[in-house]
Amino acid sequence: MKYLSTRDASLRLSAAEAIVMGLARDGGLYTPVEFPALPQGALEELMNMSYPERAAYIMKLYLDEFTEEELKGFTEKGYACPEKFDTDAVAPVVPLNENTSVLELWHGPTCAFKDMALQMLPYLLSASLKKTGEDKTVCILVATSGDTGKAALEGFRDVEQTKILVFFPKDGVSEIQQLQMVTQEGDNVGVCSVIGNFDDAQTGVKKIFSDEAIREALAEKGYFLSSANSINWGRILPQVVYYISAYCDLCKEGKITLGEKVNFCVPTGNFGNILAGYFAKLMGLPVAKLICASNANNVLTDFIATGTYDRNRPFYNTTSPSMDILISSNLERLLYLLSGSDEEVRCYMQSLNETGRYTVSAELLEKLHETFECGCCDDEQVAGIIGKHFAAGYLMDPHTAVAEGVLESYREKSGDETLTVVVSTASPFKFCTSVLDAIGITEHKPGTEVLEQMAQATGCAAPRPLATLAGKAVRFDGVTEKQDMPQVVTEFLK
Ligand SMILES: *Cc1c(COP(=O)(O)O)cnc(C)c1O
Repeated sequence: MKYLSTRDASLRLSAAEAIVMGLARDGGLYTPVEFPALPQGALEELMNMSYPERAAYIMKLYLDEFTEEELKGFTEKGYACPEKFDTDAVAPVVPLNENTSVLELWHGPTCAFKDMALQMLPYLLSASLKKTGEDKTVCILVATSGDTGKAALEGFRDVEQTKILVFFPKDGVSEIQQLQMVTQEGDNVGVCSVIGNFDDAQTGVKKIFSDEAIREALAEKGYFLSSANSINWGRILPQVVYYISAYCDLCKEGKITLGEKVNFCVPTGNFGNILAGYFAKLMGLPVAKLICASNANNVLTDFIATGTYDRNRPFYNTTSPSMDILISSNLERLLYLLSGSDEEVRCYMQSLNETGRYTVSAELLEKLHETFECGCCDDEQVAGIIGKHFAAGYLMDPHTAVAEGVLESYREKSGDETLTVVVSTASPFKFCTSVLDAIGITEHKPGTEVLEQMAQATGCAAPRPLATLAGKAVRFDGVTEKQDMPQVVTEFLK
């Protein structure tokens, strides 16, 4: 299986090379040249496997240079219960009502769906380094606005031949998110806050990446810089697994018969999650519609509805902050797959760079509509959805509520009653204040006490990784000016 760049389809890289490189030199994203079909009888076979076995089986279809044994080793460690995930199912599917099920992707160590990929990427990356003959230690640099930093720290902690350093904006993350990061355990990790906002931290990291002098100095000391960003193929592939796994579980429970089509409704930001669902469909998974759900930052809703992508619009801070995004990087992979033309993609991306907008061809839009539906939901609707479903017995976080709200509107206007899986991306305990507001509790306890307050109010237990935060020692209290970030890196790698 070879990989091309969405901006240069003549390129042919191995999976290991694509994972090590992250982003193509031409700015494009690595994408498989072709999609492996699920072998005959694969779904029946997968039904009787554990989640780690399913993951090894599915990833093997894309990773020729890895042995099945090797991949099994990775998935057994990355998705281990109870060390990493709080349920053997890893990604359980729970019924919400007659024709809706929820795929819970937040049972991992940081309680957000980023764990599904970031528990796997470190293994894939360090094995890829060996396969490509890279003997240096890889240092992952991350600038985070919250979820990704913690999930990357937890994924890379104590992984051989890797180090990880996370920068977060000093006053730009929630108290719980900050505590999650500064108490991080592991011998190869570092965390530092930056005086400034998320953009300052991200710009600082990008500068370090493009600084040849720093790269050379680090290379002499045996280090190599890389990123854990969602454009890396090694972050998309592990996400294909849970779409197929959810389908198998629905068959196993008799909710559907083998071959029957289902919809997935996905709360979307950078388009990485829903794209993995599309890849599963390309492999032959019986998927009817993929419903792309956005919050008030509804640039994708407009794009799917009209074919025009336009980031020139106000930016809103919402109660689903992980979807507050106006440039959806992974959409580029879909544009390539639908158009089959690297030249067309280059034109769209050039236009996006220069004017902040582009309009796709009528043919591309028509193909897009064969699979994708869309919708958006504002904070008030989200609160209503959380309240309504809590009263009926299910507690969901604001990101999941965006998806459920969009699904309800979609059903109303389309009459489509196909069994639909709502993809749930975070534990409600990661967003206590918004969830408490939504269920009518507007006075919130300070700091980590809010976790206990929410547990009492809802009768649900806080996930262990969050509940144990209060007793953890702060290991990292470093603060840096943005211009001093390179020194922090040098000091970290001394
Ligand atoms: C990152 C994130 C999303 C958005 O996922 P994309 O792959 O960027 O579309 C949705 N919900 C939560 C909780 C997230 O952390």
